[in-house]
Amino acid sequence: MAEQSNAVARLDRRGDHHQAPPYYLPAADEVALFEQCHHNKLAVMLKGPTGCGKTRFVEHMAWRLRRPLITISCHDDLSASDLIGRFLIRHDGTVWQDGPLTTAVRSGAICYLDEVVEARQDTIVVLHPLTDYRRQLPIDKTGEIIDAAPGFQLVVSYNPGYQRMLKDLKPSTRQRFVALDFDFPPPDREAQIVAQESGVPDTTARALVELAHKLRALRDRGLAEAPSTRLLVATAHLAARGIPVKRACQVALVSPLSDDASLLAAMNDLVELTF
Ligand code: ADP
Repeated sequence: MAEQSNAVARLDRRGDHHQAPPYYLPAADEVALFEQCHHNKLAVMLKGPTGCGKTRFVEHMAWRLRRPLITISCHDDLSASDLIGRFLIRHDGTVWQDGPLTTAVRSGAICYLDEVVEARQDTIVVLHPLTDYRRQLPIDKTGEIIDAAPGFQLVVSYNPGYQRMLKDLKPSTRQRFVALDFDFPPPDREAQIVAQESGVPDTTARALVELAHKLRALRDRGLAEAPSTRLLVATAHLAARGIPVKRACQVALVSPLSDDASLLAAMNDLVELTF
């Protein structure tokens, strides 16, 4: 989004239906639930591990609902001004520049805050008046109170696996959202996604998913993060472009997950056993 100074925000205009729908294979009734939340002006929280399809789901829903999508990646330096906006000093004076949240509120976009738990509490509280009946965004610095345009919807994602004692959403924040649970898809569906996204044959996609399940079982042996659908798709992309599948697994599936020599050896053994 060139018109904004904030590098963490991304504007996606796929909601205007000029492009093909972002491919999304539903797991259950999440499409219907999200649509109802949108029509009833309810904010939505997507809970689930990283790389399991939350972002793709929001992209797909923005397309279905014909809304622009503004995505903000949250981090612990993200300030309320990064979301709302700030005065910029120019040679001819100061001008107010909307932040990505304000742009979404004014334009009726879907605003997606990815990994919201990473943001500081004083940043998260600016979302509160947008999530209740008021649907307003007060801008202290300009004295303006903006009513959210029809179509505006707040969506946040968060990974419950990452929550730490000090970093969890406050109950007063949580209770403002409808929560949809996400997880890695069951094997048949995950294989379908991997094949569709990468173009590898079905048999390769199935073998990759089988391998992922064996690797996910290693979490009991100290593997901190389970291999995600995203990693499987990346691996399959390499295999589809002619990289031998075992090599693709080493560089795209195994190596990103750990630096521990014995875990790496165990994972590479599983690759050998699968292919
Ligand atoms: P998250 O936002 O949960 O971290 P993403 O939405 O970025 O994860 O998903 C990672 C990748 O996995 C996507 O780019 C897509 O290729 C694939 N993917 C995962 N789940 C699905 C799904 N249900 N339908 C289509 N693609 C999916």
